Amino acid sequence: MSAPTQAASPWSVRLATVRGIPIRIHFSFLLLLFWIAVVSRWQAQALVNILALFVCVLLHELGHALTAQRYGIRIKDITLYPIGGVAMLVDRPKPKQEFWITLAGPAVNVAIAFVAAAMLAAKGFQPDQLQSAFEQGALLPYLLVANVMLAVFNMIPAFPMDGGRILRSVLAMNMPHAKATRIAGTIGQGLAILFGFLGLFTGQILLMIIAFFVFVGAGAEMGQAQGLALTEGRNVREAMYTRFAVLQHGDSLGRAAELLLSSTQADFPVMSGPDVVGVLNREAIVRGLAEAGPGGYVAGYMNRDVDYIEGGEPLSVALERLSSNPRGLLVVTEQGRPVGLLNAENLGEFLMLQQAREALRQA
Ligand SMILES: [Zn+2]
Repeated sequence: MSAPTQAASPWSVRLATVRGIPIRIHFSFLLLLFWIAVVSRWQAQALVNILALFVCVLLHELGHALTAQRYGIRIKDITLYPIGGVAMLVDRPKPKQEFWITLAGPAVNVAIAFVAAAMLAAKGFQPDQLQSAFEQGALLPYLLVANVMLAVFNMIPAFPMDGGRILRSVLAMNMPHAKATRIAGTIGQGLAILFGFLGLFTGQILLMIIAFFVFVGAGAEMGQAQGLALTEGRNVREAMYTRFAVLQHGDSLGRAAELLLSSTQADFPVMSGPDVVGVLNREAIVRGLAEAGPGGYVAGYMNRDVDYIEGGEPLSVALERLSSNPRGLLVVTEQGRPVGLLNAENLGEFLMLQQAREALRQA
């Protein structure tokens, strides 16, 4: 799988770095290893096999990531989960690029399967011996079967799995990106419901878990694609709000509380002369009042990491920044001067209005 950026999971640790790409492993993967060790009664072969599978999943993700790098697309990281890996792309690939980036993952598994098959053939292994050798847990037959299964499984067209991404990229070559995502996502959710029932009736819990993730993942990506489509051709200036109150560096928390109560604004830029030196939000005001009382200074409780954005920047940039930090506040500047604010709530309202306008136009 490969996906556009989200924040790195706090439940993962960095294992290594390959060509500047951090390789992370999710905590639950270690639990899985432990579980398999216990279930297999600490048999070395079972652990060797699961670690080999882990390497194959990693190589699959590197197939995506290194192909993306060849197109000049930046990679945030690769995280390995028990049900598969995810390579996080920073930039959005074009449909043709997405096609090859996605195909490269399963192609790695096909290549490994070929190598395993060739090595087995060289040892004089007969195809009809495969099943019993696989069941006994021998490494090469295991690698062959596991990689064929990984390739086949990933190519199921259930977006956001690889097969679904390939379907989306082919559709997007002939129609708007959001529409392609909607079609691929709907097919993905339909298949997820099917997997869910299949898992329920056959008692396969793993299948039910995968179905759940496919369903949720498809929904999230459809929403994101629709949001991006609604921001198309719009800039930050159009969505920002310009009527807002500010605090001065030397103001008291009592003054901040007054402003908080007299308006619906929840985040206040803190000024020092013409510059924004911090942002004070509702939580910080409440915490400050509890700790220092109304005489305390706003400067002691404001967040000094101010997130600036230029008014002329595309709105899609603001959308991506606010979706990775939904509680954040963007301070909009023009020639270095703060002229407006934008948070997830305002942006959401702006997009809803855009959607209503679109619906009216199409009616
Ligand atoms: Zn993949």
